Amino acid sequence: MKIDEEKCTGCGLCARDCPVGAVSMRRKKAVIRADRCTWCRACQRVCPEGAVLEAESMPPQAVQCQACPVNCRINPGFKGACQRYENRGGDLVRITPLHTFSLVEETVGNQPPELIRRPIITGIGAGTTYPDCKPAPYIVHHKRQDVDVVTVVTEAPLSYSTLMIKIDTDLPVGEEGATVQVGKARVGTVMAEQYGSKMLTMGGVNLLTGRDGLFVARVMTRMANGEPVRLKVKGGARLEIQVGQPPLIDGKRPEKMRVGCGSATMGLFAPLFKEAADEVIVLDSHITSLMSLHEAGRSVGARPTGVKLRFPMSTPGRYFGDKGKGWGGTSIENPSEAIESIDMAIARPGMRIMITETTGRKAAFFVLQPDGSLKERPLPAEAKKAVEAIAQTCEPSLVSALFMGGTGGSARAGVVKYPLKLTRAVHHAKACLTVGGAPTFIMPGGGINFMVDVGRVKKGAFYWTPTPALICPVEYTMTLEDYKEMGGHVEAMRPFSAVVPHEVLD
Ligand code: SF4
Ligand code: SF4
Repeated sequence: MKIDEEKCTGCGLCARDCPVGAVSMRRKKAVIRADRCTWCRACQRVCPEGAVLEAESMPPQAVQCQACPVNCRINPGFKGACQRYENRGGDLVRITPLHTFSLVEETVGNQPPELIRRPIITGIGAGTTYPDCKPAPYIVHHKRQDVDVVTVVTEAPLSYSTLMIKIDTDLPVGEEGATVQVGKARVGTVMAEQYGSKMLTMGGVNLLTGRDGLFVARVMTRMANGEPVRLKVKGGARLEIQVGQPPLIDGKRPEKMRVGCGSATMGLFAPLFKEAADEVIVLDSHITSLMSLHEAGRSVGARPTGVKLRFPMSTPGRYFGDKGKGWGGTSIENPSEAIESIDMAIARPGMRIMITETTGRKAAFFVLQPDGSLKERPLPAEAKKAVEAIAQTCEPSLVSALFMGGTGGSARAGVVKYPLKLTRAVHHAKACLTVGGAPTFIMPGGGINFMVDVGRVKKGAFYWTPTPALICPVEYTMTLEDYKEMGGHVEAMRPFSAVVPHEVLD
């Protein structure tokens, strides 16, 4: 790559974003080091003046990497844009060796042993003791595999409570950062998109302690207990969501979650697409793909078609889509509008073009006419087969939610006399925290902040209280030996048979 000095204004964006430090600024002009440059084109993408130009030819000693769509050209002794591959004497070498599990075991840390992974009893129906330093309502011991195991449970009022809600859909729900409301009350925020899903948060301590806190707690509890909730995203969609059910978004019920982005869809189905048409476009708001230029298309023998898409190119055959209510979550309502132009010097009349989405929900088929126009035709059998293959690979569109909480007073002082020892035991897998028997993920760092899939917690197990807080069934399970060591309330312990006399454990 090289710089057109006439156009370069010295803004420095290319130097900021070059992943290998190949761009420097000299006398307010960008300069590219040719030996270091990998042709990743990041500088070209960010240059507002169009001042980055393609060099005439690739350095003859450079090797083209095939490990991702960037296709870096790497000179001897240099690394690619991702810093993983290096050209060593004409061979591309992955710099870090392949790691066995034993090499990462220390970093990964311990998992709680099987013995303590499940609680003896759950916190559901346990009640709470107050003030916090009183022993928890149930401290139960029992023998497992000849080892004394203890489970301590409480229904903990947690004001540090948030729901992270995942809605599997391509349909737009609203801008990231937009307010999520019920009526006029703010209950949450739109977070980042995830692969094929939109993420919202609901609650959080500041909303719970704010003006509408009691209402927020009530809505969160409904959501956590698997009841339907109606939301409105400010400037976005109306949502009706329920954990375990498909969402309703502005009155539409998406049946399928997309199989991947447009590029992934091309990667998955290129052989079928090649049978279906001469050119295939997979419309997607994240990455739209074009078979003839996409690596997967070329690998199955797709030839240039002269089709140019209206979206900006990311890497060959991959384009950044836009957002809207059209095909694949883009603004394209009429699929042929995705095509900006067709170069008739490359294309030939009779050429077949299929346009579809990442869910296979919609598809259209066109034949190129001698005057360069497109005529829509019914989908031939091969095209139907390819589209059906996409649809069959998609999972159903569902709503799911993680409850995220931080355990405070009763959920720690009620368990042991030295709460810091309990915190450390949870982080070091010597005590296992479950919620209604469901496994949790413990967030790293200090404190006991956990996440649990509410779909795995018995419906109706969450309550709310006007402190305001969500009440969550919490269990800690550990060996009796460890429990004593961390200052457990052993005087309040009861055998399992005394608590649930007629049931058989394990
Ligand atoms: S093409 Fe990539 S590696 Fe080369 S100068 Fe531009 S950003 Fe840097
Ligand atoms: S894998 Fe890394 S080195 Fe290879 S093309 Fe992609 S960014 Fe470049």
